[in-house]
Amino acid sequence: MKCYLIKRSQIINRTTVVIAVLFFTLLPGKIVAQELQKTVLTNCNIIDCTGAELQKDMTVILNGNKISEIKKGKYTAVSNNKNTQILDLEGAYVVPGLWNMHTHLAALLPDPKNIQANESVISASIRAGLNAMDGLRHGFTSVRSVGERDYIDVEWRTVFDQGFFMGPRIFASGDFVSPTAGHRGYVEKGADGVAEMRKLVRQRVQKGVDLIKIFSVEMLQDELEAAIETAHSLGRHVTTHTREPDIYRAVKAGIDCIEHGYGITDETIELMAKKGTFYDPTIICNLSDEYIKEREYRLKTLGYAEDEKISYYRTLINYADERSPAHAMHQRRALKKAVDVGVKVVLGSDSMPIGEMGVLEMEQFVLSGVSEMNTLIAATRNCADLLGVLDKLGTVEEGKLADLLIVAKNPLENISYIREVKMVFKEGISVDLNQPSGTASYWDYFSTTDLKKGFLKEAENAAGFQRGKTKE
Ligand SMILES: [Zn+2]
Repeated sequence: MKCYLIKRSQIINRTTVVIAVLFFTLLPGKIVAQELQKTVLTNCNIIDCTGAELQKDMTVILNGNKISEIKKGKYTAVSNNKNTQILDLEGAYVVPGLWNMHTHLAALLPDPKNIQANESVISASIRAGLNAMDGLRHGFTSVRSVGERDYIDVEWRTVFDQGFFMGPRIFASGDFVSPTAGHRGYVEKGADGVAEMRKLVRQRVQKGVDLIKIFSVEMLQDELEAAIETAHSLGRHVTTHTREPDIYRAVKAGIDCIEHGYGITDETIELMAKKGTFYDPTIICNLSDEYIKEREYRLKTLGYAEDEKISYYRTLINYADERSPAHAMHQRRALKKAVDVGVKVVLGSDSMPIGEMGVLEMEQFVLSGVSEMNTLIAATRNCADLLGVLDKLGTVEEGKLADLLIVAKNPLENISYIREVKMVFKEGISVDLNQPSGTASYWDYFSTTDLKKGFLKEAENAAGFQRGKTKE
């Protein structure tokens, strides 16, 4: 009996294989492709971020991972097809998925508990993933990483691309490229001389990075040119953390993007406009107390209450690095000037978590005098442009990948309405906006649980700055 069963199953298996082989070899034309999931978003308004006006009363149709059709009016057809879902957005606003262009997914800025000092790569990597996925729930469907230890950003990029977790698409830089003692002494061992510089850039690319992030201030001219030339020859853009007078030099040498741009001059801004150099000001990481108050007032008038911990944590950020209220004031003026003369500006927070801080940066753009429309374009279209993927992403247009953010109220009326997230789509798939299981707070864990214990003083000391004083 047993023997018979084995034989029978062997026969079935053999028969199945023969049928399958026949089917696939003899009848290829008869294979029907699996029907794509179709999502109809109707009764909505579109801010497509191409520079066009707001389009009212529209329908957007997603087919699989792409936007297949955009048309005027409501969708009235009825469908019984299980692969089609029709969503009435009740007058909500569809914008392209947002981008945060200056992130360090695993980093903590500031790090009042000194968590990073002896942290394992695994622990840092888990935080990077949490940070990225939280960013997606805020509407950031893409992020650019500009300095990450141990290629954590490259690994998470793969994890998200493979679909193991739903996260933003990541454009990764891996770690910084810098000479020894670059970033004001921060880099212990870097690349020195042209040959080492070329080698380090090539090694980063070998590890799979999408772009190169450099500290150009301490680079000699030939090192700077070598870094840019090598990256360009491998099809990667180069961006630099810098300040004047190095900004002008880097722009002249053909850098693609400027991060922070401390002390940027009008002359440099005009050169950037002429050369098509992008600018990522990261104003949020220079916030002063006045900014915090201004923002709180603004949010209150809109009926938002900011979490006390977030507010407190934010006040610490200007003690790190070169950040200061004076820089913030200068950058706000520089940003406005850059937009006015046609520099392509992108939006990056530097600070983390990338979702909340990315939104705060958008608010800073508007407070700096940039229009809501130009702020949205800086957070979408211009970013895809810098990454060379504008043909696929960055705007709401037919044929593009369906990375979308849907907000309940009009962000052109008030940019803070970008907080009213109704839905997020990444490549046509709706993102679960609820934090999946778990109840921990990023703020509690990485910042502090007790705000009253003189912790501010400790943090100030750790950062080596005095509260309210400008470093440079
Ligand atoms: Zn940074």
